[in-house]
Amino acid sequence: MDVDIKKLAKDLSRIVGKEHVFTDKPTSVVYAKDTMPWDLEEQNIPYAVVRPANGQEVSGILRYANERLIPVHTHGSGTSLVGLARPKTNCIVLDTARMKDTRVYPERGYFEAGPGVHLAQLRKELEQHNALLPVFPGSELVATFGGTIAVNTSAHGVDAALGKPGDFILGFELVLPTGEIISTGTESTRRPAGIDPTKFFIGSEGLLGVLTLLRMRLIPLPHFQHIVASYRTTEDILDTVMEMYRQRIFPPLFFEYLDEKAAKIGYEAVGLDEPEGAVAMMRIHSWSKVGCEDRANNFLEFLKRGNPIEARIVDDPEEWKMVWGSRAEAGNYMYRLGMTFGSEITPRVDKLREAFRDAKDFILNLDSYQGNEFISFGHIGAPTIHAYAFVRTKDIPNELKKAIALEMREKSEELNIKYGGCGGEWGLTAQRVSFLKGKYEKEVYESLVKLKKALDPNDILNRGNLQGWM
Ligand SMILES: Cc1cc2nc3c(=O)[nH]c(=O)nc-3n(C[C@H](O)[C@H](O)[C@H](O)COP(=O)(O)OP(=O)(O)OC[C@H]3O[C@@H](n4cnc5c(N)ncnc54)[C@H](O)[C@@H]3O)c2cc1C
Repeated sequence: MDVDIKKLAKDLSRIVGKEHVFTDKPTSVVYAKDTMPWDLEEQNIPYAVVRPANGQEVSGILRYANERLIPVHTHGSGTSLVGLARPKTNCIVLDTARMKDTRVYPERGYFEAGPGVHLAQLRKELEQHNALLPVFPGSELVATFGGTIAVNTSAHGVDAALGKPGDFILGFELVLPTGEIISTGTESTRRPAGIDPTKFFIGSEGLLGVLTLLRMRLIPLPHFQHIVASYRTTEDILDTVMEMYRQRIFPPLFFEYLDEKAAKIGYEAVGLDEPEGAVAMMRIHSWSKVGCEDRANNFLEFLKRGNPIEARIVDDPEEWKMVWGSRAEAGNYMYRLGMTFGSEITPRVDKLREAFRDAKDFILNLDSYQGNEFISFGHIGAPTIHAYAFVRTKDIPNELKKAIALEMREKSEELNIKYGGCGGEWGLTAQRVSFLKGKYEKEVYESLVKLKKALDPNDILNRGNLQGWM
């Protein structure tokens, strides 16, 4: 496609102001790359990056893009782990960074925030009002509110404990792909019954519109207690999770694990003594202090009836910070020293052990690469197994990086299909289109394509993600 970049910059400047349009190579290249381990390619590089201030300006950009048939890719902070964030074709990148005003209305029972506010900042602001932000990704320092609701991920949060963040969204302002601005939902804390357009757009991964203002119910800030437990093997932790569901014990808000190798790496990195085996860490919540202590004690009793080497409540906030930090450090270690090829397997809960065994087996026997290591950690109480192929070098050809990623993707999705999971915490398109087609009847994918076509006839927004382009 031939695009006159100078003219494009001039036209976009008329909509958002000159200082919010970028066409220089260094800026474009930053927006072309995402967290995927393979190199960026020419088609990923945007023609221009724009930072609109509000829905009106987003509308102007989309109307213009439809007239010129130029694709637009919405960018939150670009931390998606399934390839949603990398433009698949040369386009205009619409960065939501300037839309980050937050207003808390305690008397109305909700807050409103722009899509560009970072989760950590939003959490801080809400805590001043004694309210909880119900989203917990490891990327929260940079991940945006809009990007998170567009993916509808609970991240560390166990769905069965709190639900998905989208369950607390009361409504929003959204710009349709063709530029019309719509408002959905309610200003009451009572959500609409029946057909509620809000639901169609939550989790739609930027394919059906751009969120420009979100309204979320204020959730009272609970009390928290923390537990750490060590186990001889990761399998003992899996058994504990299966037993928790079997006994219908209310799951903790967080229930994370580090396998034997990850625990060793993570603990060493934060300066804790090396653990004997695998480690599980939990956050228990309740809305009264006594209730929280009670739940934590009961949960500890449950854990002790299992087979831990040790299980205890961590009262010291500094110690908890180190224990919790070890989880992030295990990931950082791998990113620093080499490359990780991730998977996200969410089996039926009674199949956890089998799914874990199969994941280990295929990762240690990749066809595309020999000599990688197996490491795993994640939101096991949800249950999510994040199993990684860790390659201790960054220096391998790009085609090989892509081949490993592809094999990891295909084989982990086979396990999601075999064990009844959706693997969907990171989102369901871009790299997962083949999974969608394999798991569900063909009409499911076809209806998504029809829905996209109905709302976005020129395929302007996030082109390539629903087609599964790499
Ligand atoms: C270190 C690290 C830890 C992570 N931990 C977790 C985790 O624990 N659990 C988990 O699920 N994910 C995790 N992630 C993935 C990622 O951070 C989350 O999915 C996050 O919610 C994405 O937010 P973002 O602002 O980066 O969105 P982006 O990656 O920029 O965008 C994600 C998708 O949303 C769309 N989008 C963005 N903003 C809007 C908008 N305003 N309107 C419409 N569509 C929009 C984009 O077009 C894209 O399709 C992690 C990532 C990293 C790097």
